[in-house]
Amino acid sequence: MEAIIGLEVHAQMNTKTKMFCGCDNDAFGKPPNVTVCPICMGHPGTLPVPNKEAVAKAVKAALAIRCTIAPACHFDRKHYFYPDLPAGFQISQYDFPLAKGGLVEYDITDASGKPVAERQCRITRLHMENDAGKLTHRGDRTLCDYNRAGTPLMEIVTEPDLRSAEDAVAFAQELRRILIAVGASDADMFKGMMRFDASISLREKGTTKLNPRSEIKNLNSFKALEKALQYEEKRLAKLWEKEGGPLKNDITVGWLDEEEKTRMLRDKETADDYRYFPEPDIPPLQFDAKEIEAVRKALPPLPREEKKKLASLGLTEAEALQLNDDPELMQRFSAVYQKTKDAKRASSIVITQLKGFLGAQGKQVSDGPGVPDLLKLVEVIDSGSISANAGKEVLESMVETGKAPDTIIAEKGMKQISDDSAIEALVDKAIAANPQAIESFRKGKSAALGAIVGWVMKESRGQANPAKVNEFLMKKIK
Ligand SMILES: [Zn+2]
Repeated sequence: MEAIIGLEVHAQMNTKTKMFCGCDNDAFGKPPNVTVCPICMGHPGTLPVPNKEAVAKAVKAALAIRCTIAPACHFDRKHYFYPDLPAGFQISQYDFPLAKGGLVEYDITDASGKPVAERQCRITRLHMENDAGKLTHRGDRTLCDYNRAGTPLMEIVTEPDLRSAEDAVAFAQELRRILIAVGASDADMFKGMMRFDASISLREKGTTKLNPRSEIKNLNSFKALEKALQYEEKRLAKLWEKEGGPLKNDITVGWLDEEEKTRMLRDKETADDYRYFPEPDIPPLQFDAKEIEAVRKALPPLPREEKKKLASLGLTEAEALQLNDDPELMQRFSAVYQKTKDAKRASSIVITQLKGFLGAQGKQVSDGPGVPDLLKLVEVIDSGSISANAGKEVLESMVETGKAPDTIIAEKGMKQISDDSAIEALVDKAIAANPQAIESFRKGKSAALGAIVGWVMKESRGQANPAKVNEFLMKKIK
């Protein structure tokens, strides 16, 4: 028996304004119903105007997943009644979507992030639509928040090319990286910017027929996607055993996150009738082949290429993957790498140290120091003001307090002593205080020198520049 899985992915585009009006597209954390206007509230007589930025971003995303952009497409009204949809219809694209026929290549990785298999998933289509509002159910009342209503979405539909829950997750993660890389979506899972509907059916291995499927609605995390598909695959297998075959018709189920199981929503024999018809208020969109080609050529490198490039700089697969998955971390790494031209050092500062300290303090990358402070830290280390070791301590403090490196170094009195006269004075003091060590060094015991350097480091509370101490000491004794 094998599982046949396809996904519908909804990704929110990171535009300044909503899909068809000028309302702020960033409503996360805002009070309910503040980023709304008569257009996104679906008032009669209002005119929706497509957001150019959203169309441009959807085109980029479609090209990055190797779709063909239709020379012309249009919007359609998809009618249904639900309290989160004030207009009574969603503006979507039905029979003439923006783009069709793409392909995503992705890796299946082991626990360390090392690729163990290469896979491909064909993309059926990518179209644009607007999101609905958000409902919150409290007891016998339902609260409506329309901040999200009208938010620009891309719906990306795959062919049924995925064969397991793990496979689906690996694909979805690669798709997320691609959308982020081309700047079409922030795809922040925590903020619900990427959601999945997953369809699964079973068939006997070696057969090619597609059996009726179970569609799992509204999965909001990779974990939910994986668990829901694993659960549904097992459930369908048991049903197959009991009934002696596949489902009789398509069904729709919901995923209960807490209970970790699916629940039947609809058992239907016919497709829903949404009474689609072309949106009369928005003229068709047209694309010029030359312009599309120019956009394709200007696309940034895709995450898999980027990962290979990072690996060629000497980073491990796991490090490359961490950067790949976190644009904020990547931005910091790139800046430090540009300054130091040393990928291993940049990875040590940004991945090992910064990410490590953030994790230990339960913080996100965006809560920690930004690029300017990190570059400043590299500068003070390179100038010899503090040692690389002291730099770690400073970075930990930066993560904890949010202060600039200079401030922390001044407050903690950590400045490395590199000043020649100060070092010379310390060395003189050390020679006077350790006559025996000097004596044994002169008799040929070179290890005695270490003891004197140690004395200086202790005396200066670790702040003397050890290379300079050595230099002066050699000069003096010889
Ligand atoms: Zn609006």
